[in-house]
Amino acid sequence: MNIHLQHQARTVDCRNCGDPIRIGEQSIRQSYHNFAGKSRMRFYHLACFLQYMMQWYVENPFAPTPRGRRAMVIPEGLRQERANIIASYSYNMKRKRELISGGEFEKAEMLDSKFDILKERIKGVGGVPKSWN
Ligand SMILES: [Zn+2]
Repeated sequence: MNIHLQHQARTVDCRNCGDPIRIGEQSIRQSYHNFAGKSRMRFYHLACFLQYMMQWYVENPFAPTPRGRRAMVIPEGLRQERANIIASYSYNMKRKRELISGGEFEKAEMLDSKFDILKERIKGVGGVPKSWN
């Protein structure tokens, strides 16, 4: 939706009060696209548009929206345990990468059993993270 300040170029009726806006009068042109995607215009007297805006603010009161990622719903005591498991997973992942880059593939494969154990443990404290699959 766009709002244009203008001097009226042709006589139209005000959207709010229905009285005509005469040529040369200061007016507000509101242009927008309707649901069918067609361009539409509405015209207002300055005072009428102010009234329209005040009405909008009454109908749409301030409602603060929460920002950021929602905190996981998990009992406070289990939060630390979950963090520990995730830290352990990250450490083992890093260790596995190091072993693979060092060419020690057998040792790297041995770590896989640890990941399974960690997955089992974290199921009880909030579920397995998506990135672990
Ligand atoms: Zn009006």
